[in-house]
Amino acid sequence: MKYEVVMGLETHAELNTDSKLFCGCSTKFGSEPNTQTCPICLGLPGVLPVMNKKAFELSLKAALALNCEISKFANFDRKSYYYPDLPKNYQISQNYFNIGTNGYVDIVVKGEDKRIGIHNVHLEEEAGKLIHPETSDANYSLIDFNRAGVPLLEIVTEPDMRSVEEMESYMQTLRNILLYVGVSDCKMQEGSLRFEASISLKEEGSKVFGNRVEIKNLNSMKAVLKVIAYEISRQSDLLDENKEVLMETRLWDEVDSVSRRMRTKEEAHDYRYFLEPDLVPVWIDQKWIDETKTTIPELPVNKRQRFVNEYHISDYDAGVLTEDKSLADYFEECVKLSQNSPKELSNWIINDILRELNERKMNVQDFIVSPEMLVELIKIKPTIGSSIAKDVFIEMVNTGKSAPSIVNEKNLTQMDDVSELNEIVAKVIKENPKAAEDYGQGKKNALTFLIGQTMKVTKGKANPKILAEIFKERLSASSK
Ligand code: ADP
Ligand code: MG
Ligand code: ZN
Repeated sequence: MKYEVVMGLETHAELNTDSKLFCGCSTKFGSEPNTQTCPICLGLPGVLPVMNKKAFELSLKAALALNCEISKFANFDRKSYYYPDLPKNYQISQNYFNIGTNGYVDIVVKGEDKRIGIHNVHLEEEAGKLIHPETSDANYSLIDFNRAGVPLLEIVTEPDMRSVEEMESYMQTLRNILLYVGVSDCKMQEGSLRFEASISLKEEGSKVFGNRVEIKNLNSMKAVLKVIAYEISRQSDLLDENKEVLMETRLWDEVDSVSRRMRTKEEAHDYRYFLEPDLVPVWIDQKWIDETKTTIPELPVNKRQRFVNEYHISDYDAGVLTEDKSLADYFEECVKLSQNSPKELSNWIINDILRELNERKMNVQDFIVSPEMLVELIKIKPTIGSSIAKDVFIEMVNTGKSAPSIVNEKNLTQMDDVSELNEIVAKVIKENPKAAEDYGQGKKNALTFLIGQTMKVTKGKANPKILAEIFKERLSASSK
């Protein structure tokens, strides 16, 4: 039997706010445990939550960037469950009126466009963080409530994804949009972006979906992709043996690379959702929507298309440049400053700058070589030659000095004085009579050798084009 995989993804993104969703406590990551708490986020009796306007606005912004229909008003609901990281025994979330519904994200997979539906976008509060001791004989767990009450955006897709590649592309595109819009820092290593994947198999061609399994607490895109591969094989084995795939919630065990059953799938009624009585509804009028729309920057897909049209670079290059907004800004800044072709600038950024940034695990905003400095280097490149320009670039990265000052200091300007080069060429021919003769007899790579020898003598500074001409002229003359 051939199966087709059907997948949906729930993404949790911590919002970029200074304070928590319902109190003034800081959201700063990495502080001493339990130093950023108050009676509200600790869930003490008698306290009242107050909505953080910035968090609400960021959610609205995200919902608009994800092409959602915006609800006329937003209510909040209590989702009741008991867990040590949830001091109130309920989470304030949205169940009946989500901020955004019916949106979509366009992705590109293997050159093909595909639209992934967004079922809803809603705002909720984070739980605290349980810390389990590493030693297996410890009989306690610790809890840090610094995270409790941090605003969290949940983005739920339709079950529209049909392959691992589509899932990967969706996650990257979504992350990129959230970063562009500035709603979340999306730092997966700090837990700012987390995923829950739903996976089921159906017979190929069939319209009937199979039972799905939901995998909770996936902290990286890599983990999502691994668990999908694992589930596809686990579920197809079950179906091959005519066994049922149980609707359940599973956990991914990173160490053993397996998913494990956690519980049977919970349903909405298990949570006893009801309207949160301590918060007033938020009315969202058209004016607010229109104003918010104006604050959304050009999104990656549009920027990518514009780069292709406006700068005549390839779609692939445009994709790389727009993957990170600050990189796209860097590129455009260079284009503005330079007379050179955008293609050349894009090559430098994609090949040389990205390599250095990756090595340093650094963002281009913190890179020592500014757009001005890169443009300056490209401007003087004709006087030093391409290969020396690469060395100068490395020197710039290491020292922060400008290209002209490095070229001056090291006296790297290219030799293109014909009479001076003529003399050197004469000497090289004299010292390498065999190669000169070979060339005369039609062995073309003897020329490469001779030019190489000359480059050695001139420490790479001879203009290779002029050299080749001089050699050809001299050697054809001498062989006649
Ligand atoms: P719940 O709130 O119980 O988690 P939802 O209906 O909100 O359930 O769906 C959660 C996720 O599961 C969504 O991302 C959705 O796209 C996905 N999903 C729904 N049905 C299927 C299915 N048959 N196979 C795979 N994913 C599914
Ligand atoms: Mg769910
Ligand atoms: Zn607090």
